[in-house]
Amino acid sequence: MTISTKRILITGGAGFLGSHLCEYLLNQGHEVLCVDNFYTSTRRNILHLLKQPNFELMRHDVTFPLYVEVDQIYNMACPASPIHYQRDPVQTTKTSVHGAINMLGLAKRTGARILQASTSEVYGDPQVHPQTEDYWGNVNPIGVRSCYDEGKRCAETLFFDYHRQHGTGIKVARIFNTYGPRMLPEDGRVVSSFIVQALQGNDITIYGDGSQSRSFCYVDDMVKGIIGLMNSKEELTGPVNLGNPGEFTIKRLAEIVVKMTGSDSNIVYKPLPQDDPRQRKPDISQAKAELNWDPGVTLDEGLKPTIAYFQERLCQTEPGALSNP
Ligand code: NAD
Ligand code: UDP
Repeated sequence: MTISTKRILITGGAGFLGSHLCEYLLNQGHEVLCVDNFYTSTRRNILHLLKQPNFELMRHDVTFPLYVEVDQIYNMACPASPIHYQRDPVQTTKTSVHGAINMLGLAKRTGARILQASTSEVYGDPQVHPQTEDYWGNVNPIGVRSCYDEGKRCAETLFFDYHRQHGTGIKVARIFNTYGPRMLPEDGRVVSSFIVQALQGNDITIYGDGSQSRSFCYVDDMVKGIIGLMNSKEELTGPVNLGNPGEFTIKRLAEIVVKMTGSDSNIVYKPLPQDDPRQRKPDISQAKAELNWDPGVTLDEGLKPTIAYFQERLCQTEPGALSNP
């Protein structure tokens, strides 16, 4: 199949998901402009791409306007781990809302198609299980997670208003928990935290009693889903759930990680953070039917390269991402 070369902007392109997207799209022959302010990432994730002639890196904060000429925009910029997005909650909301306005303005001016990295967090602590796209969610508007949840909900609103008001070509992906190489060891997300704790022989910290559930998608599957959605028929605006429906309790995840790393770490229990969702599992019927997308990588299969990545990573040192301006 011949793929026509596009100029593609990826905001948050140096982050975990963004860097995999950059790599995948470069391999397809596209020109990639990676825009990032390195708030929750380092250049390390995209160092291997810097020498590629089709790759360009720009340090920029999406809360400020951006003037470039592109054909497609993947709007991935936003801290995604709870400890990162709660560190400066006002900036998190600004990144979601002002970032969406700026990138939608860019899409409107250039006629580019734009995809929003939305999230399962728009469902809050869901009372419908598994979550379907027509569920409006159960979100606390004033809690510690609200800067992220409500910021992402407002961004979705903006996407649909630009679509209705200006005819902007939009795609909204509701991404469920995704893991894999290039997550930050210290980002506090459950998969990276458990692996790093297990590899270092530290206690594995389960918040609450560990009976809360999440569904974990391997990064390669997610990137294919996101790109599939971007290039789907124009009428498919979404929102479309993207995630692996395999559901695990957090306790079970801890046991799997201990077993797979051969660690002698103990499992310890800590208080559950405020508004931590009890359960989460995507209904992906729409993505299966419309995108012919089915995430095939099981948790065991995806944890292997992820553990190997952290094993190698922990032997190296570099400054933490949040110390980067
Ligand atoms: P990440 O923190 O690794 O990546 C986010 C990137 O955005 C980082 O490189 C960060 O420096 C950059 N960024 C943050 N604020 C910015 C700003 N104001 N201007 C420019 N760049 C900025 O997180 P990730 O897991 O790769 O997530 C990427 C996107 O996908 C986020 O929008 C996130 O909300 C969404 N998402 C991710 C998951 C997941 O499980 N990984 C789940 C749901 C949604
Ligand atoms: N969690 C945990 N120990 C940790 C980190 C997270 O038990 O060291 C729990 C957390 O309370 C939540 C789940 O794992 O119930 C997923 O947390 P994560 O921060 O990865 O993502 P999110 O809550 O946004 O899905």
